[in-house]
Amino acid sequence: MSNASATSNSIPFLDLVTLHAEVEQELCDVFRQALHSGGFVGGHMVQDFEKAFATYCGVEHSAAVSSGTDALRFAIMASGIQPDDVVLTVPNTFIATTEAISQARAIPEFVDIDEQTYNMSVQALERFVEKECLQAADGRLISVRNGQPVTAVIPVHLYGQMADMDAILELAGKYGLKVIEDACQAHGAEYFSKKRNCWMKAGSMGHAAAFSFYPGKNLGACGEGGAVTTNDLGVIEIVKMLRDHGQVKKYYHDVEGYNGRMDAIQAGILHAKLPHLPAWTTQRRERAAEYNRLLEGQEGVSVPYEPTWSRAVYHLYVIRLADRTGMASRLQEAGIGTGIHYPIPLHLQKAYASLNYKRGDFPIAESVAGEVISLPMFPQLTAEEQKRVAKTIAKYLPESGNQCGTFDKHSFATADTTT
Ligand SMILES: *Cc1c(COP(=O)(O)O)cnc(C)c1O
Repeated sequence: MSNASATSNSIPFLDLVTLHAEVEQELCDVFRQALHSGGFVGGHMVQDFEKAFATYCGVEHSAAVSSGTDALRFAIMASGIQPDDVVLTVPNTFIATTEAISQARAIPEFVDIDEQTYNMSVQALERFVEKECLQAADGRLISVRNGQPVTAVIPVHLYGQMADMDAILELAGKYGLKVIEDACQAHGAEYFSKKRNCWMKAGSMGHAAAFSFYPGKNLGACGEGGAVTTNDLGVIEIVKMLRDHGQVKKYYHDVEGYNGRMDAIQAGILHAKLPHLPAWTTQRRERAAEYNRLLEGQEGVSVPYEPTWSRAVYHLYVIRLADRTGMASRLQEAGIGTGIHYPIPLHLQKAYASLNYKRGDFPIAESVAGEVISLPMFPQLTAEEQKRVAKTIAKYLPESGNQCGTFDKHSFATADTTT
């Protein structure tokens, strides 16, 4: 990630300088307030932010913690997931999702993604519970792969677009699985729930959810941070205990916990930035619509797909094309920053060799991983900059070989002709 501000001839992938210039005075006031009160960890600044963030997400409780990874780990542990339980997730996410599962002493297993949304495929989840699990006498699911009980599923709202939560919740309910949302990229994203007949915010639908406030996220700290959201008071009480060395009050430890609290200064900064988030989200959506317009009809490129039930917040703007690598270097030559989220699906990472997955196990996640590229996306990106990005893409496409145009948004069946 580049933190550099855009100069006249380069377009950064992410610009964290211009964004913070907009709120510099407010953030400096937070620092001064902390210096004058001497409260640096915990305290009212953290509690005030927790309240505001819970309200923003449409949930009853939130607990601020030290990172999104800790938020996930604590949410998993507080949801009652036991050591050696299987927790399902997708292969095309940041490794923090599966690290949190392992750190909670559970075992990650994967299901493939949907070709259009890049989020967890409900069909694949259904196939997993029906074909790759046995049902014990008490109705619990047992994974055939390792003989362990399957007790939770973590849909990841990837790139800022929510997974198909109604369907996932229904299936999970049928098999007694806890649903923990990885909302680390999806602050403010919304899902139209047919079941409840209303739009629901990311982090308000599962048993619990985890957010990250890493600086580059849609709501970012000036350092590290994360939060758990839930409507379950029992969950939030355990999370608050786990983040603070397992203590219920000072030096009374019910369990061994962690040092996973949020700094007061980060909480104050996040609280000051939160009221700006809706406007920044609107700007991201406008930038995404503008990219869609500029790239529309461009053969060989598919732009993000947003179902009617989704209001994505475009943490990332990700396009898909056959020659992703060539395109990335062409954009780089033109001074345009890009990213790849993510180049190697988790089941093929060296870190997970012991899980014994192999190439071909999750064909959609695998083919998507080789073809996605993330374009510059941040609220202050200008229309001029977007035009330059689109022009550079349009110029390179015909040179990138005739494999382009073999697939479109609705059919990737022939996309792999180059391999
Ligand atoms: C950023 C991120 C995390 C981890 O958050 P940190 O605050 O960096 O620990 C987890 N899952 C996803 C999908 C993320 O993008």
